[in-house]
Amino acid sequence: MELLWAPWRLSYVQKVTKSKSEKCFICDAFNDVSENDRSNLLLHRGEKALVILNRFPYNTAHLMVCPVRHTGDFESLLPEEMLEIDELLKKAIKVIRRAYNPDGFNIGLNLGKVSGGSVDTHIHYHVVPRWSGDTNFMPVIGGVKVIPQSLEDTYDILKKVWSENG
Ligand SMILES: [Zn+2]
Repeated sequence: MELLWAPWRLSYVQKVTKSKSEKCFICDAFNDVSENDRSNLLLHRGEKALVILNRFPYNTAHLMVCPVRHTGDFESLLPEEMLEIDELLKKAIKVIRRAYNPDGFNIGLNLGKVSGGSVDTHIHYHVVPRWSGDTNFMPVIGGVKVIPQSLEDTYDILKKVWSENG
């Protein structure tokens, strides 16, 4: 799980998110209905939950499953929200497995800034595919990890496999 709390990445993300005042990129993406899902990296619009790619991924196909409702309070999640989140987590694993054949996954939730979460006002489950040896071959340059595939390419592949799998 060391990648999920990599300190060099945390400072980078904090720098980025702090400059954007209090805006919530998850709500912004979901509320943007002008056919910008690709540029917003929004993979799936559900009724109570959504799936969005992480713009600062730990690995290729790192995505996040979130409730549609803007809340950072885990205990306030309703049963129907939990159910849809669980279903989307399951589907995300299936889709990433088919598209990228990872050796494993890290799935996690950071609650509160002290836990390492960069956005603590909107709950998001991280789904991070892992490949054997992936901590070795991706170098860290200037605090930003180099990811071998562009976000748009990753989005297109995941979107295709997502729709093929109902
Ligand atoms: Zn939000």
